[in-house]
Amino acid sequence: MQTLTLEQETNPWEAQAARFDFAARKLNLDEGIWKVLRYPAREIIVHIPVGMDDGSIEVFTGYRVQHSIARGPAKGGIRYSPDVSLDEVRALASWMTWKCAVVNIPFGGAKGGVICDPKKMSQGELERMTRRYTAELVEFIGPEKDVPAPDMGTNEQTMAWIMDTYSMHLRQTCTAVVTGKPVNIGGSRGRREATGRGISVVCDEALKYLGMPVEGCRVIVQGFGNVGSNSAKLLAEKGYTIIGIAEYDGGLFNSNGIDVPALIEHRSHAGTIVGFAGAEAADKDDLITYPCEILIPAATENVVTSRNADRLRCKILCEGANGPTTTVADEILADKRVFIIPDILANAGGVTTSYFEWVQDRMGYFWTEAEVNQRLDAIMSQSFQDVVAYATSHAVNNRIAAYMLAIDRVAYTTKQRGIYA
Ligand code: GLU
Repeated sequence: MQTLTLEQETNPWEAQAARFDFAARKLNLDEGIWKVLRYPAREIIVHIPVGMDDGSIEVFTGYRVQHSIARGPAKGGIRYSPDVSLDEVRALASWMTWKCAVVNIPFGGAKGGVICDPKKMSQGELERMTRRYTAELVEFIGPEKDVPAPDMGTNEQTMAWIMDTYSMHLRQTCTAVVTGKPVNIGGSRGRREATGRGISVVCDEALKYLGMPVEGCRVIVQGFGNVGSNSAKLLAEKGYTIIGIAEYDGGLFNSNGIDVPALIEHRSHAGTIVGFAGAEAADKDDLITYPCEILIPAATENVVTSRNADRLRCKILCEGANGPTTTVADEILADKRVFIIPDILANAGGVTTSYFEWVQDRMGYFWTEAEVNQRLDAIMSQSFQDVVAYATSHAVNNRIAAYMLAIDRVAYTTKQRGIYA
């Protein structure tokens, strides 16, 4: 095994590129197409001046990286976080291309990010920053060009501001420019829960595939934002036992199962999961090493690394976050025979329902929540089957199978379209 420093191991762009190269080699990918798909098509950097509440002016750096438009408009979320970097946004944009291809929806991949700490900014500051960021990108985004969505640190309100700013520039309301909007202004029913719902579907499929029962299936969730909380809630409704939840400020453990709706209620007034009476406090970093059937990292990159992978005691690792496992950790988990449901499959429920939102906006006809969920469930189950079948037929692990399936689809379209000169 190659020895890497922790900094090299946790660079998300390197992590993405290593998996891409490995899968491309296995596919015998044409060298020219390899070069086309390895790097993003377009990288935009903007410096965003914002009038702050105290009268001063702050300048924030923002990115939008469009990795590919081979299979359709670029698609992917916008992240607000102090840790955003160009390499991270590049990796996340590439992952969006592979994710959309794994679930076979007609989008390319993109990602945006602004270096800021949304927890320390007022609503007014966030609104002004979002509107100016959108204005800087106005000619690069659009329903047929690039369709942003929420990611870490952004939400339905952020999408409403982007939609409004874009519409004001266009001088007409254009809802299909972003997804993940509030339902009354062109959002899709079921979008908010979609990533968590998709995770619950692939967990069901994995248990069936491995011949394990839902009853007694212990789950630990790391991260309790949109993805973590909805995954925990939906899995608990299906009969899974949520024994542990880890957040950035503390962890909770209850071997009999945590009452997830009660915890969501507690968090809504306490502002934290800490202090919840229905579970004992646990160390947030130790929790992911507790014995369980399913571990769901649902927060950020680089949670499972060479530093802790050998201590994991889960049977299934279902990646709710993007890039939670490093390549070095992958090798350790393979030796431990952990069944991985890779991020580009496991968390694709969000972008799949974003696709439904974009379709509904362009039709001007909105589906019931049951219709949305039924279509989402069908795509997630099928995609799981496709990935495990590909893994078996090509004798590779699930992650490499997902990459190979995705790269093959994008390479096929790229060749078919040809290189414009
Ligand atoms: N940010 C989400 C992701 O990483 C959703 C992207 C989208 O809906 O476009 O998949």
